[in-house]
Amino acid sequence: MSDTPKSFGRKSIEVSLKPRDLMEKKRLVNIWTARIITLFPNAFPGVLGESLTGRALKEHLWQLETIDLRPFGIGKHRNVDDTPSGGGAGMVLRADVVGPAIEEAQKGASANWPIVYLSPRGKPFTQAKAQEWSRADGVTLLCGRFEGVDERVLEHYGIEEVSLGDFVLTGGEIAAQAMIDATVRLIPGVLGNEASTEEESHANGLLEHPQYTKPAEWQGRAIPEVLMSGHHGKIEDWRREMSEKITKDRRPDMWGKR
Ligand code: SAH
Repeated sequence: MSDTPKSFGRKSIEVSLKPRDLMEKKRLVNIWTARIITLFPNAFPGVLGESLTGRALKEHLWQLETIDLRPFGIGKHRNVDDTPSGGGAGMVLRADVVGPAIEEAQKGASANWPIVYLSPRGKPFTQAKAQEWSRADGVTLLCGRFEGVDERVLEHYGIEEVSLGDFVLTGGEIAAQAMIDATVRLIPGVLGNEASTEEESHANGLLEHPQYTKPAEWQGRAIPEVLMSGHHGKIEDWRREMSEKITKDRRPDMWGKR
């Protein structure tokens, strides 16, 4: 309990524990780590500080570090961006600003540590990608802003581009949080026994069957009888059938790939 404060009049440190206090100020080794390069470090941990991912963060099942891009900026005003070469709208993050931030992020990173630029031009993020990242030692995520980052920095460091989907966000931070959430819940111990990651949507190329809970009847609608039967074999068959039907109906693309 060496970190117990000596101050009086405060019942416990928990009272003042803000989500950002869950984030590490010093690097712990051998813990899966998300390292985020961003102009908006205050956006973290954001929703990752809540519920299961937040609890796991507190319990050091994973750790989160932000690297603020601003101090790497140029000149008195710490400028991080400039106008696009060749003209056009918007601003581009400079290679000589993003580069040193990447160097900082990769200090001491193992060979099994993907470095990724969140980008609408990237390969769409998938459950398979979340599984791959959860088996790495950590991941570095570069969040763009404005028109994006100078291409040379992506080439120089061999950075992989990954997209949250076919739409354009104003920055990479929300995409980073979504991808970290999907990855961290696959780390052993994070979900506890509360959920199986093997039977849920996308884990096996199928979407999940419908779920029900109490009350037995709501607005004149009953829970399917088979689920109330206690017959595990029949329940399993029913869930499998529903899962297949929903996948066929909603995602013929997924069904076709099976
Ligand atoms: N001019 C760029 C879009 C820039 S959007 C283009 O047309 O491709 C600004 C930043 O938001 C990007 O640098 C990226 O980091 C982030 N971003 C936007 N949409 C995203 C998406 N679908 N997935 C992941 N990151 C995204």
